[in-house]
Amino acid sequence: MVQSAVLGFPRIGPNRELKKATEAYWNGKTSAEDLLKVGKEIREQNWKLQKEAGVDIIASNDFSFYDQVLDLSVLFNVIPERYTKYQLPQLDVLFAMGRGLQRKATDSEPAVDVTALEMVKWFDSNYHYVRPTFGKNLSFKLNGQKPVDEFLEAKALGIQTRPVLVGPVSYLYLGKADKDNLELDPISLLDQLLPLYTEILQKLAAAGATEVQLDEPTLVLDLPANVQAAVKKAYTYFGQQSNLPKITLASYFGTVVPNLESLKNLPVSGFHFDFVRAPEQFNDVLAAIGQNQTLSVGIVDGRNIWKNNFAKSSSFVQQAIAKLGAERVIVATSSSLLHTPVDLENESKLDAELKNYFSFATQKLGEVVTIAKNVSGQDVSAALQANASAITARANSTFINDQTVKDRVSSIDAKMSTRAAPFPQRLAEQQPVFNLPLFPTTTIGSFPQTKDIRINRNKFNKGQLSAEEYEKFINSEIERVIRFQEEIDLDVLVHGEPERNDMVQYFGEQLKGYAFTTNGWVQSYGSRYVRPPIIVGDLSRPKAMSVKESVYAQSITKKHVKGMLTGPITCLRWSFPRDDIDQQTQAYQLALALRDEVNDLEAAGIKIIQVDEPAIREGLPLRAGAERSAYQVWAAEAFRVATSGVSNKTQIHSHFCYSDLDPNHIKALDADVVSIEFSKKDDANYIAEFKDYPNHIGLGLFDIHSPRVPSTQEFITKIETILKTYPAEKFWVNPDCGLKTRGWDETRESLTHMVEAAKYFRNQY
Ligand code: GLN
Ligand code: ZN
Repeated sequence: MVQSAVLGFPRIGPNRELKKATEAYWNGKTSAEDLLKVGKEIREQNWKLQKEAGVDIIASNDFSFYDQVLDLSVLFNVIPERYTKYQLPQLDVLFAMGRGLQRKATDSEPAVDVTALEMVKWFDSNYHYVRPTFGKNLSFKLNGQKPVDEFLEAKALGIQTRPVLVGPVSYLYLGKADKDNLELDPISLLDQLLPLYTEILQKLAAAGATEVQLDEPTLVLDLPANVQAAVKKAYTYFGQQSNLPKITLASYFGTVVPNLESLKNLPVSGFHFDFVRAPEQFNDVLAAIGQNQTLSVGIVDGRNIWKNNFAKSSSFVQQAIAKLGAERVIVATSSSLLHTPVDLENESKLDAELKNYFSFATQKLGEVVTIAKNVSGQDVSAALQANASAITARANSTFINDQTVKDRVSSIDAKMSTRAAPFPQRLAEQQPVFNLPLFPTTTIGSFPQTKDIRINRNKFNKGQLSAEEYEKFINSEIERVIRFQEEIDLDVLVHGEPERNDMVQYFGEQLKGYAFTTNGWVQSYGSRYVRPPIIVGDLSRPKAMSVKESVYAQSITKKHVKGMLTGPITCLRWSFPRDDIDQQTQAYQLALALRDEVNDLEAAGIKIIQVDEPAIREGLPLRAGAERSAYQVWAAEAFRVATSGVSNKTQIHSHFCYSDLDPNHIKALDADVVSIEFSKKDDANYIAEFKDYPNHIGLGLFDIHSPRVPSTQEFITKIETILKTYPAEKFWVNPDCGLKTRGWDETRESLTHMVEAAKYFRNQY
């Protein structure tokens, strides 16, 4: 019998229980015990669900209160001193590393003020991990034994699990040297780290674990020779230790073939690879695995929500069985299911036809089990038949095809994707329109989304508030944000985005060709979850999507208000895309819809339009090569298609966050002004990379993921550092990103300090 495996299950709970519990704890409303209890309940629920679905290999330690990479940093004591010096409980240290902590002194406790560690996108997904940061006074040791505790917890329920840990090479390679330790190459820490892995693995074995899953997703990247050597070294080392569980080395999100040499002859019991994303690696990896090693065939998509094609997947797995024998093949999810919503059954409003095309994490459990049964010769004919008819129905669905959209995409030409004049000329025409001072200040778009906003939006969605009443409420929020910005004297204003639940979903809901869920939450980072809309068919814009709010905001102030849109690549990347046409086509469809919106905004008198592309970097194919170069071209072109329909006088802004950006790629967008996440970079080399960026740029000056308020002096120091490399004439002053997750108090203070700092420099120049 071929076994089934799930590499990890979403940990947010079916109704976002983890978010609610975590935030209540952060706000001091509940105790640590309450939070730990909710965690435990979610884990139990997840294991039982998988057991009942018939999954053979179930993960443990896939749970986390914040991030699984951060958990490892705490486990291995990779905790920079700035977090330990306050003697906080371990859970609070973890949260401080994840999100920063600022607390006023009380009678019994001193003040705490520490920024968060850098947060980075997890490969090409919209999940963010907290970057392991290796400081000078590093002393590796085990802090507790989370993986063992959770293994035992499952065991006590009668469920034997396979604990999962990020493997040593990926853990180090995804990390970075801390500011005080910049010469360090994290990979050089391997020798110190391996004994700790061994210790925790031995403890797992002693607790009864027969097998562990070590995730090495970095194997899908272009790895330098020393990192490839580290893979060999690490797993050879484990092979020499006694009393370890069996190791399945798992990789996903791409092909491992360019790094295959480092995997040959490793003393591991098996491998897991992702054949959804990289079916082409099949022959090569089969030729490379050893005589007795198992192959876990990742065939149920951990990154998307489309129903699996059982016939296709089964015949793929059959090929593996033909080569290796049934006892060496496992049917698995391609990656952890962390990236998919929990349960399709929670979607009561979804169109029944569409629902029949989708599969969320809970449904995917059934999929791995059914495929495993099918390839083992068990009778699953009813499931196969239902599946085949759903697949056929989707291919022929009227939701999907729209000839007008297809024709418009094929009519895109160079003229449509080029501004009328090059940047210097546009700038000359824009300057008299805007008359901005040096160091113009602005924000990225959203302002705090208060409880009041959410309550009113809910009421409106439930029909308890009329469209008129809701519009009135939104306008009052816009007015509040405008007055606030005037009061603290920002130069370029925004309307604050109170009408938007999410920057992609909001537009998705207004575009034809999209479906959206009511409860399809996916963790993005920490307690921040997103509800990606689903691209089901050809995309078009039935009517204007954002003009009303922008026009209202502009009508109540003399300052310029930026129109605010989400770019085509970000709409694509933060949606579940179609898997039946390529992503480039989907991006162009979105670009055309947005182009109409940009032009409508201009026609309505909006003179600055920001088109956000925070996801442009995450869409970059993980390896260098033809696919990546092509992406750089089409992604930039899609942005330009959206933004090039306007006159020279209209100023186009764009915004990016979270990742190491390539200035050349940003250059290709030809936006007049860009803002980039920067506050956690603190790196002279990174600033230098943008030195020759031709257009104007704002390097984000404070971290909006943290409630921490930087002082005016802190802003001045930051700006001074950047000014050493970057010219004042091109310098915009802004935060890292939108402020929607912040509270009003910290927002007011931070922005006030930021504006003060800008004025300080204005007086100097
Ligand atoms: N305009 C958006 C906002 O301010 C941008 C968000 C983002 O880049 N993630 O919320
Ligand atoms: Zn951003």
